[in-house]
Amino acid sequence: MPDLTTLPLSDVIPALQRGDFSARELTEAYLARIDELDSSLHTFLTLTPDLALQLADAADKLLIEGRQTGTTPPSPLSGIPIAVKDVLATRDIRTTAGSRILENFVPPYHATAVEHLFEAGAVILGKTNTDEFAMGSSTENSGYGVTRNPWNTSRVPGGSSGGSAAAVAARMAPLALGTDTGGSVRQPASFCGVTGLKPTYARVSRYGLIAYGSSLDVVGALGKSAADVATVFNVIAGHDFRDATSAQLPKPEIQLNGAGSLKNLRIGIPQQYFIEGLQPEVETAVRLAIDALASLGAELQEISLPHTEYALPVYYLIAPAEASANLARFDGVRYGPRADVQAMWEVFRETRGQCFGPEVKRRIMLGTYALSAGYYDAYYGKAQKVRTLIRHDFEAAFEKVDLIAAPVAPTTAFEIGGHGDDPLSMYLEDIFTLPANLAGVPGLAFPVGFDDQGLPIGMQLMGAHFQEDLLFQTAHAYQLVTNWHQQEPPC
Ligand code: GLN
Repeated sequence: MPDLTTLPLSDVIPALQRGDFSARELTEAYLARIDELDSSLHTFLTLTPDLALQLADAADKLLIEGRQTGTTPPSPLSGIPIAVKDVLATRDIRTTAGSRILENFVPPYHATAVEHLFEAGAVILGKTNTDEFAMGSSTENSGYGVTRNPWNTSRVPGGSSGGSAAAVAARMAPLALGTDTGGSVRQPASFCGVTGLKPTYARVSRYGLIAYGSSLDVVGALGKSAADVATVFNVIAGHDFRDATSAQLPKPEIQLNGAGSLKNLRIGIPQQYFIEGLQPEVETAVRLAIDALASLGAELQEISLPHTEYALPVYYLIAPAEASANLARFDGVRYGPRADVQAMWEVFRETRGQCFGPEVKRRIMLGTYALSAGYYDAYYGKAQKVRTLIRHDFEAAFEKVDLIAAPVAPTTAFEIGGHGDDPLSMYLEDIFTLPANLAGVPGLAFPVGFDDQGLPIGMQLMGAHFQEDLLFQTAHAYQLVTNWHQQEPPC
């Protein structure tokens, strides 16, 4: 039997259903791959091999019954392995959010997105590394050590969903869940040469997602291709009464069949995303990919998103402000380790002082300051107003075009330690991903080339609210005529 991890998911799903191999064999192949590579890449924080095999056996039982009775299995994800970013709560499975303050936290419930995976019969392999509380762009802020980029292990995989992206790139999982508050699905997807979706805000329930910036957070998915990611999106999206913000929409049923023409599709190219500081090879690859979309029939238009330059300061006020409130609950009383001191305030101070990493502390201080009396209007209030202008930019653009095409990040994967002690220079890596979160619109990142170091380059398509289908159809059409998404890292 060939190494089952080398088969594309589009072949695996029908083969599993026909019974060419079992979900157990498929799962064992991925567990073997994890065994071989995880000590060098450090993509997983917790592995669940016993659970995975149990779930695989349960899926096999259903698949066999389905074949005998001639019924199709309930979901294409039945028996398919998947990795889950460690900011999503998993019942009876340790969930750390990449933080020492949750080192031994075992949630009593599943996040809704995870619950949907279980219902679909997917096989959970384990929990992937992340920047602490999803704050970062490289996984270097994880309390448990950095993940390495499978394309070049001296480079970061991106972040904060770096573990998920590296796991998919290195064939340690065919699919993974991630989360995106300011780019954390799209940027690591781009750095690792895989496809990643940030859905529309509120399209996927946030219940059980350990909150970072609640008005920005969204659960997304990563896989090799747009078609693979769409399979997960169909399963995890939908209204959830447990998340009051979740959109009252039915589950999507996106189907990506055959070659689509992009005739009548209008794609906008925002001038503010092709600026000084953009690595020349990134610009070239993205422009070539846009040309490829044009040759499939799309009509290109230069557009302007005039408030783009404010996205960075606005995001780095709003996200830390919301984070400072969300992280107040981690106090040594309700969760995790407790510092060995007596007085209540000492417990709070010592526990938080000892267990939070420097980036999390920086953001709590920044956010608390921005929300404090007398400063609220000047900082948080003002940032919310500018956020509205950024959203209006997108709304105006989507009157003229159907999709917006842009680079995901200004550079390819940087060296581990490359941003040293300079948090601001790290924040600059996020300039092209933050606006979609501030506006709440969906974005899909996928590979469009390599730089001269052999590192992947990604492009993102952004759409109007709830236009995920169009994003997938367009990226799928591109992936039918190109093979960047099929390239494999050297490991
Ligand atoms: N890099 C951004 C930050 O540190 C985005 C992170 C994310 O999307 N979770 O806030």
